Amino acid sequence: MRLVLVGPPGAGKGTQAQYVAQYLIVPKISTGDIFRANVGQGTPLGMQAKAFMDAGDLVPDEVTIQMVRDRLAEDDAVKGFLLDGFPRNLPQARVLDTLLLDLGGGVDAVLEMVVDDDEVVRRLSGRRTCRQCGRIWHIDFEPPTTEDICDGCGGPLFQRDDDKEETIRHRLVVYAEQTSPLVSYYADKGILVGIDATGPVDDVTERAIAALRRYAH
Ligand code: ADP
Ligand code: AMP
Repeated sequence: MRLVLVGPPGAGKGTQAQYVAQYLIVPKISTGDIFRANVGQGTPLGMQAKAFMDAGDLVPDEVTIQMVRDRLAEDDAVKGFLLDGFPRNLPQARVLDTLLLDLGGGVDAVLEMVVDDDEVVRRLSGRRTCRQCGRIWHIDFEPPTTEDICDGCGGPLFQRDDDKEETIRHRLVVYAEQTSPLVSYYADKGILVGIDATGPVDDVTERAIAALRRYAH
């Protein structure tokens, strides 16, 4: 299955991607994670992306699309994938369609995760991420047993540079202006399914899986 997650920053895409990708038995491909790994390693790609990420802006399409093209060409993506954070504007969505058409088929389903802006700010200002395994935590809503240590792998947790209130507000504007048009783009294709992404993480996972059941193959 080829699944795309859409929703504002902080909707819980990365959190749910961990579980939904496991359920669908497909790789989770997060463009934000790939960019952050490149920034951390100081690669040319990371150096190109860093200033845009710090400002809460989208990395230019040429850079992002080439990166996704390369990632989707890897063996594990042949049988399907879960995309978290891509596409993020209409040009990216159109390129993805063309890319998949060449491989046969298209996107099977798009899961829209709906939360309001105040919840996003609450979630992102307390988000912590494991430097070692990438697992996502929250200081109040999903706290690790020991502060700043990942329960899963024992790795250190860090706060993302772009999770400052000012940058969060800007990312919400970018989402509204550039990313939210994807909702009607995919609805028009008849492959959009929306869920309420508020409430406990497990409840949201159940809703996501129930919504996707009819698309899974
Ligand atoms: P996104 O990938 O959409 O930006 P994340 O999955 O990183 O969002 O989640 C943002 C923050 O919100 C994280 O700190 C995460 O632990 C927390 N979070 C995710 N889902 C929920 C939920 N259902 N209830 C409360 N907090 C949540
Ligand atoms: P995320 O981890 O999805 O919140 O993404 C973090 C940052 O990475 C974004 O604010 C952008 O700067 C960049 N980014 C991730 N995915 C994309 C994309 N598809 N297009 C452009 N920039 C992206």
